Amino acid sequence: MTRDQLFARDNYRCVYCGEIFPAEELTVDHVQPRVRGGDRSGGNLVTACRGCNTLKGHRRLAEFLSAEPVARTHFFALATAVWPRHLRAVEEQLARRDTKRAQRERAR
Ligand SMILES: [Zn+2]
Repeated sequence: MTRDQLFARDNYRCVYCGEIFPAEELTVDHVQPRVRGGDRSGGNLVTACRGCNTLKGHRRLAEFLSAEPVARTHFFALATAVWPRHLRAVEEQLARRDTKRAQRERAR
């Protein structure tokens, strides 16, 4: 899948902020990083604007979404072309983070 095909599939909309951008403002983001077995097929790719991509930085997706609740909501609403197994993996990582956060808050 080319960049242009990916952006067209996602209607030129960033999956993290939900805004529409011209192609030159968009980037390709991997759901599962390549080092963790993610590939470059459409089921592992999403459209992200430059601003959100910079904000995410080198954080893993679950880490980024855990820190950014608005991006989390947009991602699960918009990333409908991502493979279910990748979405499930992200949801499980987020659930573990939510549990740990709740345990920390109860311990205070
Ligand atoms: Zn964005």
